[in-house]
Amino acid sequence: MGDLFKRLTAKGINYWQEEAFAQKELVQHAFSERGADGDFNLALHTGDEPKKVINNRRVFTAALDIDMAQTVTMEQVHGLNIAQVGKKDCGRGMYDYQDSLKATDGLITDEKNVALMGCFADCVPLIFLDPQRKVIALSHAGWKGTVGGIAGLTAEKMVQEYNCAYGDIMVAVGPSIGPCHYEVDRRVINEVQKFAWWQKVLTPTAEEHAMLNLWECNRLQLLELGLKEANIFVSGLCTYCHNDKFFSYRAENGRTGRIAAIIMLK
Ligand SMILES: [Zn+2]
Repeated sequence: MGDLFKRLTAKGINYWQEEAFAQKELVQHAFSERGADGDFNLALHTGDEPKKVINNRRVFTAALDIDMAQTVTMEQVHGLNIAQVGKKDCGRGMYDYQDSLKATDGLITDEKNVALMGCFADCVPLIFLDPQRKVIALSHAGWKGTVGGIAGLTAEKMVQEYNCAYGDIMVAVGPSIGPCHYEVDRRVINEVQKFAWWQKVLTPTAEEHAMLNLWECNRLQLLELGLKEANIFVSGLCTYCHNDKFFSYRAENGRTGRIAAIIMLK
């Protein structure tokens, strides 16, 4: 399924990797699954016992040979704030939700052994790698972040702050709700229609409703900015279709855990 996305297992934990990222041998990265029991929740804000979530995070990072204490998370608010992080931020939000990076939906670093992590259930996880400048980023693109342009803003910040080149930046679009299951109403349609190519990402259904392709909406923004088609990898894994493997906010009526996306420069 998808552009070179592979399902792997390490220390009993299943996860997904984008093969093109793995081949660069510069990063460790993964998109998690909900686990055999279905409750491998990696987010601290969904009401699960914190101890259990922290343990899940420990197991997940250990499976990837990432030090949990070197990982940084954010308080995701469907906004457009992207933070530059480094060693000083390691561990933030990993053990206590209160000290995660406040009101932040994107993380960037050029420091080795600083893992960036975000939590997702239907929203689109985006991970970025410039293999030339050795810069990574991760952002959270639900419909608000997507129409707000967080994908492009993340790439822009890599270029402006770290001297990356659009032509070098690779992006992987992780498991998230697909065009097969993401019906939106007029409020969202209005926002999407600001893009010149909105007809490519909206398919009308009932009156005032349409199916929205968040994957393509993010991909087209990145292409517009100058990223290469060959450097954008879409997993094609719909969290609603594959609710046995991933948490889905829509499929589970809002009461669900979160998978994680994680990336670290080695
Ligand atoms: Zn689907």
